[in-house]
Amino acid sequence: HVIRDRNQYEASIQARDIVGGSELLKQLQCIPQDYEDANRLDKLIAHLQKKRKSLEGALKADKSLANQLGSELKNCKLEFQRLNQELDQKRGKIQDTLQCLPNLIHPSVPEVHPEIVHWINPSPSYQQDRSRDHVDVMSRKQMVDFQTAANVTGNSWYYLLNAGAQLEHALTTFALLKAQEAGFNFCIPPSIARNEIIDACGFRPRDMNNEQQIYHLADTQLGLTATAEIALAGLGVNKVMDLSQGPRKLVGLSRSYRAEAGARGKDTKGLYRVHEFTKVELFCWTKPKDSCKMLEEIKDLQIEIVGSLGLPAKVLNMPANDLGAPAYKKYDIEAWMPGRGSFGEITSTSNCLDFQSRRMNTKFKNAATGKHEYVHTLNGTAMAVPRVILALIENFYNPTKNIIAIPECLRKFMGGREYIE
Ligand code: AMP
Repeated sequence: HVIRDRNQYEASIQARDIVGGSELLKQLQCIPQDYEDANRLDKLIAHLQKKRKSLEGALKADKSLANQLGSELKNCKLEFQRLNQELDQKRGKIQDTLQCLPNLIHPSVPEVHPEIVHWINPSPSYQQDRSRDHVDVMSRKQMVDFQTAANVTGNSWYYLLNAGAQLEHALTTFALLKAQEAGFNFCIPPSIARNEIIDACGFRPRDMNNEQQIYHLADTQLGLTATAEIALAGLGVNKVMDLSQGPRKLVGLSRSYRAEAGARGKDTKGLYRVHEFTKVELFCWTKPKDSCKMLEEIKDLQIEIVGSLGLPAKVLNMPANDLGAPAYKKYDIEAWMPGRGSFGEITSTSNCLDFQSRRMNTKFKNAATGKHEYVHTLNGTAMAVPRVILALIENFYNPTKNIIAIPECLRKFMGGREYIE
């Protein structure tokens, strides 16, 4: 299918602006020839195999032929070895290229600039107000401690304390309940996964957006998961999913670990870009015909969650150059953050089509044809805690009264409190 859709893959590599893109384009050009060569080698090997068997048969039947056929059999074996090595190399080359290919791109994806598709709780003004800076407000109210965390672990780590820690608990509980109401089954996955699973999810070095995102564990083939998506997707490895009753939907709660090496020096202060955080993640396996509809469903659930929190935000159809490698289409929600004086991404959802399922070998049984086909996978943020806490503090802090209003939907998870004083 890559040979058939080669033009579209070329366009996708160019539009995504992938690191090493021009080299990848060259490799892609070679694929039809490599594929033909591999088929030719395959046939030659099959032919030699036949010849070898008949020579061995003849020798076995008549030992007096040893002198006559011995050297022919030896040459045949050597040639067989040589062709197999050549075939392995060819296949390895094809596989390397295929592994690095990004997904195709949905026709509605903009080229360069995000398209605003929806406003949530529009605000009358989007003005910077430094008195609402979350680091100052939270530090004064002893809701966070960056200083000690810097000594204990390093920069961009933090302790959430008191009402700060309660907010995390309230936000995760709220998001988990919302997701379960929407039919997602609760899962607590491991936070460490094999490198091959991490790779299969699309967190590869070639992927500009995820470059050096993963913390690898020294002397192992393991890494800390950057998102529960990795371990959730791993549930499908080498499996045939039962999708006869519709899509399978999971909501995972985990710690996420981000090396953020590519973003070094960016957002070094506060909760915006940290190395470890709690995230509630949505994950789905669907039949191919259902995945576009499911992306809209996840986006609508995200809008409901952000809307209930009262955050002013916008929903963006993300452009091709911001899709990463696995996504076919992606929506981000950005909340207004007055202390920072800008919008910041708080959720993301992607339809990955069969990008992950081909690499993980996750299939379903097509009832009409009886054949096993690749499923489509989707992921989406239900709650990425630190950035949402940041947005809540900066939007709902009242500098005159020096209090933070707690959104109504969270109050029952915070002992009924209406304010943080
Ligand atoms: P991603 O899995 O990269 O799409 O991220 C999902 C969400 O996690 C984003 O929309 C952010 O809200 C949040 N997030 C990503 N990276 C970080 C980070 N380093 N620190 C805090 N939050 C993050």
